[in-house]
Amino acid sequence: MSAIQFHALSPSLVDAWRRGEMDANGLPPEMHHATSGDLPCRACLQPIQPGEDYLILAHRPFPTLHPYAELGPIFVHAGACAEWRPSEDPPAMFLAWEQLLLKGYDETDRIVYGTGQIVPTDAVKDAARAILDDARVRYVHVRSARNNCYMARIDRAL
Ligand SMILES: [Zn+2]
Repeated sequence: MSAIQFHALSPSLVDAWRRGEMDANGLPPEMHHATSGDLPCRACLQPIQPGEDYLILAHRPFPTLHPYAELGPIFVHAGACAEWRPSEDPPAMFLAWEQLLLKGYDETDRIVYGTGQIVPTDAVKDAARAILDDARVRYVHVRSARNNCYMARIDRAL
């Protein structure tokens, strides 16, 4: 089985949005104030706590435009937050949820059909390893099982 690493968004990308850089729709990130604790920050991969400010913005987690380059909403802390270090274990936040959607992408950033699956969160590591055992797969997206929102990326550990 492949050794894997969970990756958050790069700090430089998130910092650019915090400075007012436009999102993937060409719009400024929206500023909001959290009233509940269930919003996942894609920078630190921890829940945004009630009372914290956060940004909602459109993100396209692909390097180029093409038909498979889905764009969707994400949340990040509005202020600096802890840096997520690539880890072989999923963030604790994921384990509080029931299920996640995993999808494998190839070297041209297109879906490898047959890899998409909704898995119980405690099986995410094993499922991602199995997807990455397929030589056609370059990386795996972790997405919301209910809303398809991008959460994190899983790569083979170097
Ligand atoms: Zn954060």
